[in-house]
Amino acid sequence: MPPAPLHIVLIGPPGAGKSTVGQSLSALIDITVISTGVILRDEIQTGSALGQEIARRIDAGDFVTDDMIGRVLLAQCTQIASQHGILLDGYPRNLAQAAALPQMLARFGRRIDAVILLELPDEQVFERLGGRRMCVTPDETYPVHMSDATAMARCVAQHGVLTVRPDDAPDIIAHRLRVYHNTTAPLIAHYEEQGILCRVDARAEAGAIARTILSMLNQTVTPV
Ligand code: AMP
Repeated sequence: MPPAPLHIVLIGPPGAGKSTVGQSLSALIDITVISTGVILRDEIQTGSALGQEIARRIDAGDFVTDDMIGRVLLAQCTQIASQHGILLDGYPRNLAQAAALPQMLARFGRRIDAVILLELPDEQVFERLGGRRMCVTPDETYPVHMSDATAMARCVAQHGVLTVRPDDAPDIIAHRLRVYHNTTAPLIAHYEEQGILCRVDARAEAGAIARTILSMLNQTVTPV
C-alpha cells in the first residue's frame, strides 16, 4: 500500500530557507509544495489590480490580508489530488490563519501531521537576506547568495539577471523580522501545545535539513 500522504507546515523567520527546504523535501517524498510567497509574487507579475495591492504590502514588509491569502490557499488545495501530500511554505503566519487551517484542510480530508520550525538567529537572518539576490532566467527564478561563488557562476552561465527583492532592503528586513517575532512566533507555542512541533537548525544545508526532517518524522524516502 502507498504511504499515507503527509501534511507538513514549515515555519521560521524570513531567510530561514523555507522554500529551499520545501523543494528539497519534495524531491525526496511525494509532497506538493504550496509556497504562498511564490504564488503572491506570481500574481504581482500579472500586473493585475490585486497584484498591485499585494506588491504594496509585500514591498513594505507587511502581510497580505488573511482573507486574500485564505482564498489563494483554498484555490491551490483544490488542484492537488488526494494521494499527494501537501507542504505549506509560508502559511500559516499568524494565529488567525492557524485557527482557519484545520477546517480548510478538513474540507479535503486532510490534517496537519507536523509543523517544522526552521530556527535561525536574527543576525543570520540579516546576513542571509542582506546578501540574497534573485537570479532571473527565462526558465526559472531562484535565490542565490552573493557569497556563494558556485551559485553566482551558475546564474551567469544561464544568462541570468541578478535582482534584489524589494523586501530584502535592510530596513524592510528589520521590519519583517519584527513582524515575525510579534505575529508568527506565537505559532511556536500554539503548535508545541498540540505536540506537533519539531525544531530544526536552519543553518545546515537544505538537503541535509530535509533528510533530518524525514528521519524526525520516521519517513522513508519514496521515489517521486
Ligand atoms: P515569503 O516568500 O514566504 O518570504 O513571503 C513573501 C511575502 O509574502 C511575506 O513577507 C508576506 O508579505 C507575504 N505572505 C506570504 N505568505 C503570507 C501569509 N500566509 N499571510 C500573509 N502574508 C503572506
